Amino acid sequence: MESLTQFLTRMPKVELHVHLESTMPGELLDQFARRQGRSLPRSPQDLYRCSAEDLSDFLAFLDRICSYVGRPEELTLVAERFSLACAREGILYAEAILNPTHWSQFSPAQLIAALTEGFDRGQAVGGAQCAFTLSLSRTQTEAEALRLVETMAACRTPRLAGLSIDGNEALTGPTGRRFHAAFHRAGQLGFGRTVHAGESSGPEGVREALDLLEADRLDHGVRAAEDPALVERLVRQQIPLNVCLSSNLALLYRDPTRHPLRRLLDAGAAVTLNRDDPTFLGDLTLTEELRRAADFAAMTREELIRCQETAARAAFCDEATRARLLRALTAFRQTLV
Ligand SMILES: [Zn+2]
Repeated sequence: MESLTQFLTRMPKVELHVHLESTMPGELLDQFARRQGRSLPRSPQDLYRCSAEDLSDFLAFLDRICSYVGRPEELTLVAERFSLACAREGILYAEAILNPTHWSQFSPAQLIAALTEGFDRGQAVGGAQCAFTLSLSRTQTEAEALRLVETMAACRTPRLAGLSIDGNEALTGPTGRRFHAAFHRAGQLGFGRTVHAGESSGPEGVREALDLLEADRLDHGVRAAEDPALVERLVRQQIPLNVCLSSNLALLYRDPTRHPLRRLLDAGAAVTLNRDDPTFLGDLTLTEELRRAADFAAMTREELIRCQETAARAAFCDEATRARLLRALTAFRQTLV
């Protein structure tokens, strides 16, 4: 039998939870910074070797690295590089998350155009098919959220897949109905809706995502495991959970044995496996993330394929793309018998 690494390298992969801000190579940002007459705070190779102090204000650090991207064509290049890097490790389809609040130098319309062009270019030269969601921060107002959704509608491209929301719920507290209208409107417009919940928030954050934000998917969702009735609901409704094991083990679970990946799989939850913030996790590849998950939760190869099929079913893509992804996975499974 081929090694786990060979198997995972060969397996067609789908990723749904990866922040584009956390994929920008230090060397590229160094080039961009120089054009502005600026320099990085550390060498490009060490940019993401953050001190605890940097990480205590993670969002400010993200603002800072995004500020090195000074022109829309540079963001286009970031997107193109991402698409190509995905293809190099056998990712067929990826949905990146981009949060406009980190990109005050560009309007949301500019962001949509730049990312669309970058993903178009990447795919044209053999890169992965990529789409993106635009993400709200939980600190924004209801009016700002609604304005973003209307801009998404006005500037829509086939690569703009949906609306998401992130931010530390432990700091902002529950946001109640503040974002309900924006998510409801996004759904009316046919956008997918994915919500960071069940990481910095517990089960109550997951319930809020489902009941108030009409989430089609959850980014993380792992802390739902603290509430058996909620897990039962997630399984019954087959709400996809975009789980990020390495990220969770770095930031959330002091005791790794408490991570519920195995329990969620055994319960029949719709689990996908993702990187979240690759550059902050040592330039983590999806292949390595899957290897760690396989090791950590003693996942069988069939379970690893099934997680990719779950991601293909949960993707905010057109039906032709979904069918192509599922066909590739079926063909891959047939190579194993
Ligand atoms: Zn995330």
